Amino acid sequence: MSEYRAHTLPSYLNPEQLGPWGTYIEQVERVTPYLGRLGKWVETLKRPKRSLIVDVPVELDNGAIAHFEGYRVQHNTSRGPGKGGVRFHQEVTLAEVMALSAWMSVKSAAVNLPFGGAKGGIRIDPRKFSRAELERITRRYTSEIGTIIGPHKDIPAPDVNTNAQVMAWMMDTYSMNQGATTTGVVTGKPVSLGGSLGRVEATGRGVFVVGCEAARDAGIDIQGARVAIQGFGNVGGTAARLFYEAGAKVIAVQDYTGCVYDANGLNILALLNHVEKNGGVMGAPNMESLTATEFWALETELLIPAALEGQLNSDNANAIRTRIVVEGANGPTTPEADDILGAKGTIIIPDVIANAGGVTVSYFEWVQDFSSFYWTEMEINHRLEAMMKAAYASTSAVAKEHNVSMRTAAFIVACTRILEAREVRGLYP
Ligand code: NAD
Repeated sequence: MSEYRAHTLPSYLNPEQLGPWGTYIEQVERVTPYLGRLGKWVETLKRPKRSLIVDVPVELDNGAIAHFEGYRVQHNTSRGPGKGGVRFHQEVTLAEVMALSAWMSVKSAAVNLPFGGAKGGIRIDPRKFSRAELERITRRYTSEIGTIIGPHKDIPAPDVNTNAQVMAWMMDTYSMNQGATTTGVVTGKPVSLGGSLGRVEATGRGVFVVGCEAARDAGIDIQGARVAIQGFGNVGGTAARLFYEAGAKVIAVQDYTGCVYDANGLNILALLNHVEKNGGVMGAPNMESLTATEFWALETELLIPAALEGQLNSDNANAIRTRIVVEGANGPTTPEADDILGAKGTIIIPDVIANAGGVTVSYFEWVQDFSSFYWTEMEINHRLEAMMKAAYASTSAVAKEHNVSMRTAAFIVACTRILEAREVRGLYP
């Protein structure tokens, strides 16, 4: 890491503020000894191909002009166009978007989708803006990054605080600028605009599928298994419902408003209903509340971080008592926490496998848009389940072969695929 900082840190990054990019670099360094001759190309993975910072000026409802900072980073396109979400969050930084874009490269390759990795973001707290303001912010941002995105170049999708409506505005803006309706420029669109059935639930469904695979391998019966989930949005909310419906006991859920608990299992359908009306889990009837410290210390079979990066870290890893961590969020575990949990025998199903369900159905959506032929939801869920199980099985086999963690195994598979493409393409010119 120190050698990396000294010699190869992109000059536009502050070494003291690497955040999740530092985590990603450490993950790449851990995998380098397994790359053989391809190690020659590993520097490719340590810097994004293209990083764009844009100013997003908009007129607010009260007539004032506000400026926001937007980003789109294309980490790697060796295996196909860039692919990755757009995040609206007040703490988004370039270093964070770089890390998220890199994890997308690894994820696409780990699941063997014909995509590279990209990510975008706008540094705003979307709760502070009206719907009309958010539409103008989204449209101006889309126009600003319009030169580098496109169905064959880089295809955005929803992420934290963005959804199908935001994708519809992005698709419309891009199409207006192109002078032609271009459905394939984004995925996660409304079904009425060429979106795919099953996309909204895809990431949470993938988390559920690999969570069940990992539980089976660890000899845990999902019926009655205790599950704790951080994040109750698109990913965490869907995963919670699927585990609940499968008979697991979801004993605790934490979101940005607080944490609710029931040792006998929460009624997840009632909780989803409460969150839809109230915006968060706090105050849900008939449920105890817990502090964050108590939440992390709960004894569970499965722990699912599905909110933000760096949530499992050196502060709480020693207290965590779970058999399996299934990473719904991107980058929720720091390398220090990885080591602490690994030493305790905790199995970690890494983000690049566990939450790959979203990009997998995004891939199905992109294919459907090109062919203008749409599949049934059953067909999509069936194909998703098959791809998630195959990715889990191949990662598991590599982990056993090299006696490494599932994360290192997923990185070995993915980095090998990316660097093989890099090598065979050769360097231009
Ligand atoms: P979302 O906006 O729908 O939900 C985010 C959830 O996290 C909310 O319940 C929010 O209350 C909670 N949260 C936010 N800050 C928190 C904090 N400080 N402490 C506790 N909870 C907090 O977002 P999402 O789409 O569900 O994404 C969640 C994670 O999954 C992100 O890391 C995202 O990158 C990742 N992910 C999402 C997708 C997708 O398809 N949506 C795909 C792959 C990975």
